[in-house]
Amino acid sequence: MSTPPESFDVIICGSGHIGSCLALALVQQGYRIALVDSLSPEQRRQRRDNRVFALSNKTRTILDRLDIWSLLQGHITPIKHLHISNKGSFGAARLHAEDMQEEALGYMLESRALQQTLDQAIAEQSIAIFSPATIREVYQHPEHITVTLNDKTVSANCLVGTDGTDSFVRQQARIGVTRKDYHQKALVATIDLHHSHAFTAYERWVDDTAIALLPHSPWRSVLIWSGHNDYMDELMAYEDPMFLSHLQHAVGYRLGKLSSVSERYAYPLFQVQADKVVEKRLLLMGNAAQTLHPMGAQGFNLAVKHVALFSHLLRERRRNGETDISLSLLSDYAEQQEKETARTLAFTDRAVELSSHIGPLNTTARTLLINALGSSRIAQRALLYTR
Ligand SMILES: Cc1cc2nc3c(=O)[nH]c(=O)nc-3n(C[C@H](O)[C@H](O)[C@H](O)COP(=O)(O)OP(=O)(O)OC[C@H]3O[C@@H](n4cnc5c(N)ncnc54)[C@H](O)[C@@H]3O)c2cc1C
Repeated sequence: MSTPPESFDVIICGSGHIGSCLALALVQQGYRIALVDSLSPEQRRQRRDNRVFALSNKTRTILDRLDIWSLLQGHITPIKHLHISNKGSFGAARLHAEDMQEEALGYMLESRALQQTLDQAIAEQSIAIFSPATIREVYQHPEHITVTLNDKTVSANCLVGTDGTDSFVRQQARIGVTRKDYHQKALVATIDLHHSHAFTAYERWVDDTAIALLPHSPWRSVLIWSGHNDYMDELMAYEDPMFLSHLQHAVGYRLGKLSSVSERYAYPLFQVQADKVVEKRLLLMGNAAQTLHPMGAQGFNLAVKHVALFSHLLRERRRNGETDISLSLLSDYAEQQEKETARTLAFTDRAVELSSHIGPLNTTARTLLINALGSSRIAQRALLYTR
């Protein structure tokens, strides 16, 4: 006689940033969670990753509700001022947290520190961890879903694929994607400064590239320079002094003389959007559902809002006595996340469009935007709360 499958409420495949946040949100409500990752925590720690995320105020609230924000304190740098400019145009837009009655316009946090904190928080919860482990097959039944996991079968009310851009779960469900290749890369590095950044984030269009210099530790900023592949490859190939001289020429001396640059990493940029995020009892979130160009710093910020929405819908249903995760709840989730996702994708796409071409139209559009942001609190708020 075969043993019955081990049973859970939710199986989450992928314990990256979003799978981990989701696991913590669901365990808070008493759900029994299995968290699967194809890599062991040690293997994940060894991955090359120098990303530093700009987090929105909304994300701060969500991480606070997950009891994560206080654990991140030593790793967070607030963004108190934002300075937006276009090389070759007169003037700049300056936004200040104080003017908007906010503690900060956003917060900088290393991807690694976030993941490490999430891993520690997960380890303290009663969450069944399967890692390294791989899901081999997925079977949908009317009332539940079963998956074969290495050599065992486990079942749950629902399976969430948070397994990244090339999601295996998405492929298993035969959900197609729309993929847009921007033929661009984001070059990421940290830059040591002579002047303190004074908690200012600089965003600057330079020809057909976009540069963000974001506050990190007191004398250090994070550089995210995105542009067409050929130019980024050229910048990657330069020796440090040559690279710094190009960067200095592009950004000027607002941060003083740029002293040194860390190892540079280049991330290829594309947008991948799943054709749907729910297929019966299977759900996609995070990069598995939509992978965004990092311009506008939206990927994690958007996906963590999805985690909060899903968690909110579950809480509402539980209040009405519904404890199982029903198909109708999953389809409500799919419908409700759609508008925000579409808005964010459109915002990111427009931002990329604006930065990746030079010509009179884009120069005028950049100048108009800078003027609007420089003079209108409504425009400033719109920018802040889209993020
Ligand atoms: C250069 C750069 C800068 C960025 N900056 C920002 C920013 O400032 N702000 C912001 O909000 N977002 C930013 N992002 C986006 C952010 O990185 C992503 O939105 C976020 O990391 C997505 O997390 P995820 O958990 O969905 O996916 P991932 O982090 O890719 O995690 C996927 C997990 O699934 C596991 N996995 C993969 N395949 C399998 C499988 N078959 N079985 C089991 N497990 C599997 C992997 O090991 C991994 O642990 C940036 C992205 C880039 C590239």
